[in-house]
Amino acid sequence: MAAKSKKRLSNVENKLFKLDNLQLRDVICPICQSILIQPVTLPCYHSFCLNCFNGSIENNALCCPLCRLRIGSWLRTSTKQRSVVNSRLWNHIQTKFSHEVDIRSNGEDITLPEETVRPRLSAPGEIRTEYEAELKRLRNERFQLEQKQFEETELLVK
Ligand SMILES: [Zn+2]
Ligand SMILES: [Zn+2]
Repeated sequence: MAAKSKKRLSNVENKLFKLDNLQLRDVICPICQSILIQPVTLPCYHSFCLNCFNGSIENNALCCPLCRLRIGSWLRTSTKQRSVVNSRLWNHIQTKFSHEVDIRSNGEDITLPEETVRPRLSAPGEIRTEYEAELKRLRNERFQLEQKQFEETELLVK
């Protein structure tokens, strides 16, 4: 399990750190819709500003604000290792989008590219697909179970 999540994390890093063609729309926080400041990248690839992230998990269970992936153990480990902020991504954002970061730091809104609807970093990845397949399977199982219980009840009634 630990090895697996480590592998997942390094996959995320590989995905994230092909940073050369990173565009502004890739580094937009889904919560504040502005450039990521001190980005926190969750195991599901979703990234949020540290502030936005903290704000959203305070009044929430320990799960990703977007896809509800449980992040309790990830958060514990990252907090312990002081690696909650994705510093490599943050460094890159500061280098590549220093202008936007400046504007943002002054409390002003940055101009988002027209087509920004969803940040591309949050595109559904392997994990998401796995997750959805599992969800589907569980729903199916439950449906069949309920169906069976229903039939049994029917039999009893008759
Ligand atoms: Zn934010
Ligand atoms: Zn997520």
